[in-house]
Amino acid sequence: MKEIHHWIDGKEYKGTSGRFADVFNPATGEVQARVSLATKAELDDAIARAADAQVAWGATNPQRRARVMMEFVRLINRDMDKMAEVLSSEHGKTFPDAKGDIQRGLEVIEFCIGAPHLLKGDFTDSAGPGIDMYSMRQPLGVVAGITPFNFPAMIPLWKIGPALAAGNAMILKPSERDPSVPLMLAELLKEAGLPDGVLQVVNGDKDSVDAILDNEVVQAVGFVGSTPIAQYIYERAAATGKRAQCFGGAKNHMIIMPDADMDKAADALIGAGYGAAGERCMAISVAVPVGEKTADALIEKLVPRIEALKVGPWTAGDDVDYGPVVTKAAKENILRLVQSGVDQGAELVVDGRDFSLQGYEDGFFVGPHLFDRVTPDMDIYKQEIFGPVLSTVRAGSYEEAIKLAIDHEYGNGTAIFTRDGDTARDFANRINIGMVGINVPIPVPLAYHTFGGWKKSGFGDLNQHGPDAFRFYTRTKTVTARWPSGIKEGGEFNFKAME
Ligand code: NAD
Repeated sequence: MKEIHHWIDGKEYKGTSGRFADVFNPATGEVQARVSLATKAELDDAIARAADAQVAWGATNPQRRARVMMEFVRLINRDMDKMAEVLSSEHGKTFPDAKGDIQRGLEVIEFCIGAPHLLKGDFTDSAGPGIDMYSMRQPLGVVAGITPFNFPAMIPLWKIGPALAAGNAMILKPSERDPSVPLMLAELLKEAGLPDGVLQVVNGDKDSVDAILDNEVVQAVGFVGSTPIAQYIYERAAATGKRAQCFGGAKNHMIIMPDADMDKAADALIGAGYGAAGERCMAISVAVPVGEKTADALIEKLVPRIEALKVGPWTAGDDVDYGPVVTKAAKENILRLVQSGVDQGAELVVDGRDFSLQGYEDGFFVGPHLFDRVTPDMDIYKQEIFGPVLSTVRAGSYEEAIKLAIDHEYGNGTAIFTRDGDTARDFANRINIGMVGINVPIPVPLAYHTFGGWKKSGFGDLNQHGPDAFRFYTRTKTVTARWPSGIKEGGEFNFKAME
């Protein structure tokens, strides 16, 4: 059986815990490798070595650090296909989608090439008589990134890029379900010129995460994953005085106004609801058509599109719309929630429960589902399903529709489809959700803006990537300086008596 270990001090480090987690091929259901789970002692050691390495890295001028990022960009592009194949084989997403996963991470590394500009401080000349004042952005030291299974390239890259470009060392704890791509990225960074020890990739589970949280050398934690764990990490990190930004789950609503282009809205819902088998924190999982006529027209357009979806293994390339979900447990959880929807009275318009793929009977495939007449008291509305299941909640008016999204406990992303600028503008202004799409179903901001949800979708301050990331991974020091009059007055040659 293939074993996956850690990356410490610029080389593979074989874990000694004797504890492993299975890494599946979700398309076949087979265990394809096992990943070592680090002990607290291994974590503490990796952190101490990172702290040593950070001193010289933090003192390296920002432009030299940026050049490592520049070379990293070239190498990621060189190895894109190789990494995408590994990513698909562990995660299950289609090959084009795996390339998208890497691409959206790569864009943040490209942004980090501009780090020297973002790290510039502020200066006030003559803040008082003979006094200047300046603020510097300094690295925090050792920081940690703890990342989820669903974007095994993009989210580690969102963490690594800004943290390292700002002069920190990083402990990256990727998801134990698809750990290979983060290790490949670490290897590429070494090839790009990153000094050993500045990025340590340590695989593990809750024990490893707790070791990071309790280690006082670690100054900041960037987490992405489910809401209960995000909240737990935020609280425990704060208890040891760490900076923490912890992004959680989602339930993203898309409002469809009666004036929307119904074909475009239906196409958008197919991609945003079922792409990546719904395993995206920005997936649309709730459609809210406004008015009965809109709802009927939307369902009529959605059904044939959903029935035409092609579900299969990533090896089928472009011929597949989405692949299996990540584990058997994830599949069972999705089917359990679908059953709860039926039991609680929602109308299952497209039923994917019996889906099976010839030759892949043991794979973790889930057929597409569409619910109509879902109500806010149902579990399928309240909980994140994280699968290919779209729920339709019919709203009587725009006010009723926006209230649904406002009242939901999650606040990651949302969208509105309309031709009316006034409605769209009102929606964007009033909605209490971090990322908003207007006729755009998955409004993931580009690298130079910031990414982050509100309410139970995000704990802590500042967002991921964009300028916020450089604020998160640096701290400000402000110097007030007054110099005594110096040699410009000319030399004094007389021995002065005290007055
Ligand atoms: P998860 O919470 O199970 O795992 C995330 C990370 O936390 C992993 O590294 C895992 O090893 C670790 N972990 C798991 N259980 C832990 C515990 N008890 N204590 C400490 N650490 C623990 O999430 P996942 O299933 O890997 O990812 C899917 C979730 O991530 C979804 O809820 C999705 O919405 C969310 N997500 C959010 C965003 C966002 O930006 N808001 C982006 C991607 C994914």
